[in-house]
Amino acid sequence: MRQVEGREWWLWGSAVTVTLVLTFGILSLAFPGLQRPTDTVYLLNLKEWVRGLAALVLLFDIYTMYQQRQLQRIRRQLAEREQLFQLITENAADMIAVIDPNGQRLYNSPAYQKILGYGPEDLAATSSMDQVHPDDRARVMEASAKASSTGRGERLEYRVRHKDGSWRFLESTASAIQSPEGETLGLVIVNRDITQRKRAEERLAHQSFHDSLTDLPNRSLFLDRLQRIVTVWRRHSELKFAVLFIDVDEFKVFNDSLGHAAGDGLLVQIAKRLTAGLRGADTVARSPVGEDAELFGGESTLARPGGDEFAVLIEDLHDPSDAIRVAERIQQRLAIPFDSNGQEIVLSVSIGIAFSNNRGMTAQDLLRDAEIAMYRAKSSGKARCEVFDHAMHACAIKRLQLETDLRKAVELNQFRVYYQPIVSLRSGQIVGLETLSRWQRPESLVMPAEFIAVADETGIILSINRQLLYEACHQLRSWQGLFPSDPPLTLNVNITSKQFAQPDLASQIGNTLQETGLDPGCLNLEITETIAMGDADRSAVVLTELKALGVHLDIDDFGTGYSSLSRLQRFPVDTLKVDRSFVSRMDTDVDTREIVRIIVMLAHGLRLKVVAEGVETQAQADLLTDIGCELAQGYLYSKPVPAETIEQLLSNAANASANTRAKAASSRFA
Ligand code: C2E
Ligand code: CA
Ligand code: CA
Repeated sequence: MRQVEGREWWLWGSAVTVTLVLTFGILSLAFPGLQRPTDTVYLLNLKEWVRGLAALVLLFDIYTMYQQRQLQRIRRQLAEREQLFQLITENAADMIAVIDPNGQRLYNSPAYQKILGYGPEDLAATSSMDQVHPDDRARVMEASAKASSTGRGERLEYRVRHKDGSWRFLESTASAIQSPEGETLGLVIVNRDITQRKRAEERLAHQSFHDSLTDLPNRSLFLDRLQRIVTVWRRHSELKFAVLFIDVDEFKVFNDSLGHAAGDGLLVQIAKRLTAGLRGADTVARSPVGEDAELFGGESTLARPGGDEFAVLIEDLHDPSDAIRVAERIQQRLAIPFDSNGQEIVLSVSIGIAFSNNRGMTAQDLLRDAEIAMYRAKSSGKARCEVFDHAMHACAIKRLQLETDLRKAVELNQFRVYYQPIVSLRSGQIVGLETLSRWQRPESLVMPAEFIAVADETGIILSINRQLLYEACHQLRSWQGLFPSDPPLTLNVNITSKQFAQPDLASQIGNTLQETGLDPGCLNLEITETIAMGDADRSAVVLTELKALGVHLDIDDFGTGYSSLSRLQRFPVDTLKVDRSFVSRMDTDVDTREIVRIIVMLAHGLRLKVVAEGVETQAQADLLTDIGCELAQGYLYSKPVPAETIEQLLSNAANASANTRAKAASSRFA
């Protein structure tokens, strides 16, 4: 436009100049002053002059008209472009702004009203920086300075206040308007509303650091917070903080009995109670006004690292005893009954506490220490709170070592099968053998009490017992051939909870039976009543599946769990193994003897056979015979022994019975 205006000035200037020159020329010719009008030369010259000037004027007019047309065309084009610009800016979804080099608004597209709620009057009354978030202002100014100097700014994200007070995220690019001389006359800024995208990104980030059920920070976020504190603490060791690891006692039982949805509901209620009592960090809701006394008044972070576990980071402790007090209050608060679909639920938690105490420690170490202390609280009776100490650490290290050693032992084939006879109390004959594992380490023979539990928790038991089952079935088949009897010798094999939880347990056992050719009717699977009762519905299904193989089912350690005989009726079991603790007290305690008598009686009523475990004395054996118990197992007959010893025992028994038969025959013929 400036160029058009320049050209117009030039045109008008030349027109005025030409007009003046022509006027002057004509005047000087019309009023010749010094020359005589009759002079023929002069008259001739005058004509020539007039003709010449007229030609010039004509030429000049043509030129001016041409120029004028050109200017009109340019003007029309400019007007069209302006219309187009207006059409685009007025209808663009993006907000387009033009500002002068001082930040004063020159133009704002109508999208400003749609997106940010500001009308032209609101915008006129403010500068372009007024609505920018204070934290983002420096960045925005820097970006516009850059755009002014280089001509084009970089993409920038910043926050702007909506007229309703909320914050919106904008993504903007700025371009400079420059004069032909390169001077910046203003900036054109195109702003896009990316609030929805930003919120989605934030939600995603939130989800990856929060637990979806309770919306509490997850393990990663908790460790991140904790690590930050640990880092600060390395420089300021006067800071005291603690980690509480909270685990709901017997949560699995609630989950199994109430259903998973109700279990989840319970966890949410626990999270709410904990949240309400802890004031502090932003991820923890502040306790509502009027809520009863806080568990802890300082900064704290509550997280759900997994399953039925919660963790609390308590910052700024005055004294370690504060943490213990918090733990006790948590226990009291969670002891108030919960409501699950109208059902009253009473639960308890075990809490482990670890304090900042060792300069080299990391967040992971602290959380692990708190967890170790929690396990100690569980194993020493639940509903308790324990503070981590170094003996626990040593214990945990030992356990880790045991895990590693166990894995190696599987590879090195260090497990041995021992057998303990089960005898008929009536005939004194060996009728069956229970397989019991031993771990043959180079230096010693390790008993199951030292490794079965860990092997089970870690799943290593699966490899151990697969091997054991195969070997024992194979062995029994061979003994059945060597020492035939009627009914044939049976084999008892223990099933742990990990094995019981395997979906393909029945098919695994079925395969082993097929491979070894052992009659399924000769295999007794021993399952403790605690395992069987854990998830009664599932147990019924699994036990029925196993039963369909043709094997027999024994309830092991009967009397140590919480089950009753009537509940056992639901399961297709064949035999009860009365726990050693009852048998060992039978000969000294009348009440125990009475209990065993009733168990045997009720079991027979349910058509179950009974094996008495841990029979050590003849007195016990006699009492059991009197009561009507048919089978016994214990040191009185034999300790668990290796296969060679069993073979010897079976061979002796076979010889003895052959001798008896021979004697009987000879006495008959004598
Ligand atoms: P359990 O199934 O109750 O096995 C009987 C335990 O009582 C055996 O201990 C046995 O040695 C012991 N015992 C038998 N008679 C007597 C007695 O008269 N007096 C005394 N004081 N004890 C007696 P063991 O072999 O140490 O096994 C302990 C537990 O470890 C077993 O208890 C069983 O639950 C588990 N276990 C052992 N081997 C295996 C295995 O290979 N697989 C599985 N799943 N569990 C196993
Ligand atoms: Ca057993
Ligand atoms: Ca037992």
